[in-house]
Amino acid sequence: MNDRVRSAELFAASREVIPGGVNSPVRSFRSVGGTPPFIARGEGAYLYDVDGNRYIDYFLSWGPLVLGHAHPEVVEALREAVLRGTSYGAPTELELELAREVIDFYPGLEMIRMVNSGTEATMSALRVARAATGRPKVVKFIGNYHGHHDSLLVRAGSGAMDMGVPDSPGVAPGAARDTLSLPYNDLDAVREAFRQHGDQIAAVIVEPVAGNMGLVLPRPGFLEGLRSITREHGALLVFDEVLCGFRLPGGSAAAHFGIDPDLVTLGKVIGGGLPVGAYGGKRRYMELVAPAGPVYQAGTLSGNPLAMTAGLTQLRILRRPGVMAEIERKTARLVEGLNALLSRRGLPYRAQGIGSLWGLFFSAEPVYDYESALKSDTRLFARFFHALLRRGVYIAPSQFESGFMSLAHTDADLDATLEAAGDALDEALAM
Ligand code: PMP
Repeated sequence: MNDRVRSAELFAASREVIPGGVNSPVRSFRSVGGTPPFIARGEGAYLYDVDGNRYIDYFLSWGPLVLGHAHPEVVEALREAVLRGTSYGAPTELELELAREVIDFYPGLEMIRMVNSGTEATMSALRVARAATGRPKVVKFIGNYHGHHDSLLVRAGSGAMDMGVPDSPGVAPGAARDTLSLPYNDLDAVREAFRQHGDQIAAVIVEPVAGNMGLVLPRPGFLEGLRSITREHGALLVFDEVLCGFRLPGGSAAAHFGIDPDLVTLGKVIGGGLPVGAYGGKRRYMELVAPAGPVYQAGTLSGNPLAMTAGLTQLRILRRPGVMAEIERKTARLVEGLNALLSRRGLPYRAQGIGSLWGLFFSAEPVYDYESALKSDTRLFARFFHALLRRGVYIAPSQFESGFMSLAHTDADLDATLEAAGDALDEALAM
């Protein structure tokens, strides 16, 4: 492994002109210390930095690259598409095709609107929910992350969790006033919130599998409970599947858990690595969106032809027989291997996985919400992270993020990862 001299130079220079040197906070290694590798290219399961190092990549652009970097068919489709122009600002058949592909993939979805990020998707979905119900309040869960727009940047996960300042300065008190933040997996808290504010609550938004405080699974009955409570009170249930969509068995939380949300937000995988988000749901709600209805939402680059091409190509490959099962098999193999390493060393920590998502908490106790996630040994995580990185394995640089898997990871990559993880654990524990 080469010293990351060029990366360090670029990071220092970037900090002069870009806040913190990065265009999204967690990339800066803020929570683990040190300086991030500057990336020159990605190919398959690998990232290559400007210092000539190769890393097996387990964060995959934070989720979108379910086939790995630069999948040849995605690249070829983009190469052809770019010759036809980069943006039209007028409707295309591609948008219709991607809409149909997603609707076909996601049970219960009837209409969908493309946007450019997950943040836009959740912001717009809540606007629809408020318009549909005529109510102002929204319930969210502590440690769930739905993007950085004002009304949901309250007790959020992901980068906001690392910084220890879940409420950002600059968010107007009014914008956050109607947001009720409750502990994840706690149905009693939800019942109590509805008892107090039931006629004011437009929606409950939830990560049905939480991936932004580390990987945290819903307890049996939690999502079902949200469905029945919201129904009872005339509030909408919004599944934020920006992160877990197309990465859970069956392709979605709706399919996997057999629950029918009113609205759903998507992103990441459906854009194949280009900037895409989407929100959709039942026709009666989505027909409120302009120009079909009065709820305004728009975007210069929404439905961008390159983004639609990358997303469509990736989703079609993902739906080929056996592809999702193969990615899930690799995830299970990695998780099993990590757990074997941990138990061989008599450590109380456990990895877990679902679909093509995985996580490892350095906590001896089960993690089911934000408070329990915070009990993890983040110093041990930071040492483990750097020891792994030095061995050419790049996981998300925070205890409170998920791991991802792609089709491009080979069994040899997994073997190499597990060997590196064993050595990295020993090094991290000895320090
Ligand atoms: N919702 C969830 C569940 C997410 O994980 C994220 C991003 N990690 C977002 C929304 C926001 O998406 P974006 O970063 O594209 O704005």
